[in-house]
Amino acid sequence: MTDWILRGGEVIDGSGRARFRADIAIAGERIAAVGVVGKVQGAREIDVSGKIVAPGFVDVHTHDDRALFANPEMAAKASQGVTTVVTGNCGISLAPLTIDHAPPPPLDLIGDAADYRYGRFADYLAALDRSPAAINAACLVGHSTLRVGAMSGLDRPAEQDELTRMQERLQEALDAGAVGLSTGLAYAPAEHAPPAEIEALAALLRPARALYTTHMRNEGAGVLDSLDESFAVGQAAGVPVVISHHKTIGRDNFGRTAETLPVIAAAVARQQVGLDAYPYIASSTVLSAGQAERASKVLVTWSKSAPEQAGRELSAIAADWGVSVKEAVDRLQPAGAIYWTMDEPDVQRVLRFEHTMIGSDGLPHDFHPHPRLWGTFPRVLGHYCRELGLFGLEEAVRKMTGLPTARFGLTGRGTVAAGAYADITVFDPATVIDCATFDKPTTPATGIEHVFVNGRPVWAEGKPTGDRPGRALRRQQMAAEIR
Ligand SMILES: [Zn+2]
Repeated sequence: MTDWILRGGEVIDGSGRARFRADIAIAGERIAAVGVVGKVQGAREIDVSGKIVAPGFVDVHTHDDRALFANPEMAAKASQGVTTVVTGNCGISLAPLTIDHAPPPPLDLIGDAADYRYGRFADYLAALDRSPAAINAACLVGHSTLRVGAMSGLDRPAEQDELTRMQERLQEALDAGAVGLSTGLAYAPAEHAPPAEIEALAALLRPARALYTTHMRNEGAGVLDSLDESFAVGQAAGVPVVISHHKTIGRDNFGRTAETLPVIAAAVARQQVGLDAYPYIASSTVLSAGQAERASKVLVTWSKSAPEQAGRELSAIAADWGVSVKEAVDRLQPAGAIYWTMDEPDVQRVLRFEHTMIGSDGLPHDFHPHPRLWGTFPRVLGHYCRELGLFGLEEAVRKMTGLPTARFGLTGRGTVAAGAYADITVFDPATVIDCATFDKPTTPATGIEHVFVNGRPVWAEGKPTGDRPGRALRRQQMAAEIR
């Protein structure tokens, strides 16, 4: 029973192979046919001639754990053609954790104390089942979240009984369907965790066929050591590693992705390694004096103690207040910021690298967010692919679809083929472009025309349809679908 026919588009199927002209028939949650499709009584038709029909994009690096509930239409992502988000990156996940005090930064990026209310990962996934979002989610467990829940103090390695508690909670999460473990070793809650602690947790991943993603300890002068540390975890545990938002930050490290990418390529030759990146020279996270020092410019994205300063430059705030930048940082806490810390040639080199997936790292609860939240995928397609010619459109789509679904084990997605889930994005290759800027960061992109999730439209005519067909994707269920 065909529900939809997408007629006359150019299919880019996510594998990297050249586009081809075909009609698409959608029946229920799946793609029923790719090829010449005749008229079908009762099916709705959309003329997509001149448009690209691609698999829905996978945002492999998100902090959408709570956004899936708070903004269930997920317009920031659906407007970009994203049909699946990977949550729980950088060591911070909403579950499994309950707390009765303010969560320490950066856990406060995704929620307040009251939001951390899922003592078991199964409870979080069940809540997603009960209150589905427009798009799918594959969920990581955050190491910092485990630490906050299991340790009496974070300024030291975990003791044996604490490690045991963390292992028990991680195992529960993996049993419930988590796709892997993330770390954020650059952040205060995790920076005192030694490699042995990470390896003891990562050891649980292999039997579960889950993976390890890491916001590394150091993305500046020590980036090569941090890559070695990340690969060593993968080797010790026998699991795939994903290097999160790969970059080399600070003026002294401009150009050094020319060193790191060959090191990553060498690692890929001996073990399973992947990486993700966002297409901007500015990063964004919690506000800290240390990060501000390394940046050429800092924009405040939110502040609990001075909310009216969100969207302003840190130096201007300090000048207004007649205080040092460091003092201004202290007065704004808790707060978030955007940091200009990268060099454009590095961003382009990483994006071009064949193993690089696209991940927005968008922060959905920031008052004045980094434009990557609304702009990442159309920016890669429109700016880096069409305008700069960094790579072809087939390669751009592969980085957003076939590559990440293989890496994260999202069976039946990331391709346009009969039998696959009908997660589909239709876009205009001539006009697709990001419109979110650092001044107007929540402006939706243009050129994303139709987005289907599990066979149902979630974005059309420049707005959400209101339907919420997204699913919490469980690792075991996806593994069982491998035929
Ligand atoms: Zn991160």
